[in-house]
Amino acid sequence: MSHHHPSEEMLLSYAAGSMSEPLALLVATHLALCPQCRHEVAAYEMLAGEELEDQSPALLSSDSLVRVLDRLDAPEAAAEAPQPPLAAQGDLRLPRPLRDYVAGSLDSLDWHQRGGIAEASLLPERDDFKTRLMRIRPKTAIPEHSHHGSEYTLVLTGGFSDHTGHFVRGDVAIADPAVQHRPIADAGEDCICLAVTDAPLRFTGPIARLLSPLLQR
Ligand SMILES: [Zn+2]
Repeated sequence: MSHHHPSEEMLLSYAAGSMSEPLALLVATHLALCPQCRHEVAAYEMLAGEELEDQSPALLSSDSLVRVLDRLDAPEAAAEAPQPPLAAQGDLRLPRPLRDYVAGSLDSLDWHQRGGIAEASLLPERDDFKTRLMRIRPKTAIPEHSHHGSEYTLVLTGGFSDHTGHFVRGDVAIADPAVQHRPIADAGEDCICLAVTDAPLRFTGPIARLLSPLLQR
């Protein structure tokens, strides 16, 4: 059971289909592991659908929501099951949405190792964001750092701690650009994370505009 979730803004933006691909991938992967957030997103989508019933055909033909629903079609029911030993897991370590981005196995990625930390890019780097997997050896500290955009980290195996808390499989850690932090991986197994650095969230498009007033409650 996950204890650290994406923000409500992130879930709304995801439900509205207005999220950048890297962050949408991170949220979709969290949803595969978190029934609580799946329900919340489903509620936002239902709400958006009701609002849209009174809108123009042009709005109804928007494929944003359809894309989101497609992404949600494959929640990973087995995700909450106890994990088999690492050696036997193969790509099952990766929830379904993420597996689609990793051709072959985790080990086939182009890992760059520096000390106890290895990184592999998942999507081409763009101006605002980087999308990568990180594999951190047990008890390794990530050098203190800050970042231009916000940094979103989703734990896939193992865990880590920083001054904001302890994060394990399914948990999302969000660090804004002002935050200097120094995460340390748990003892035991490697900590594998999906890490996305992105510009601040923006609300764009008709469905996002319909949903954004919800944030002002
Ligand atoms: Zn959640």
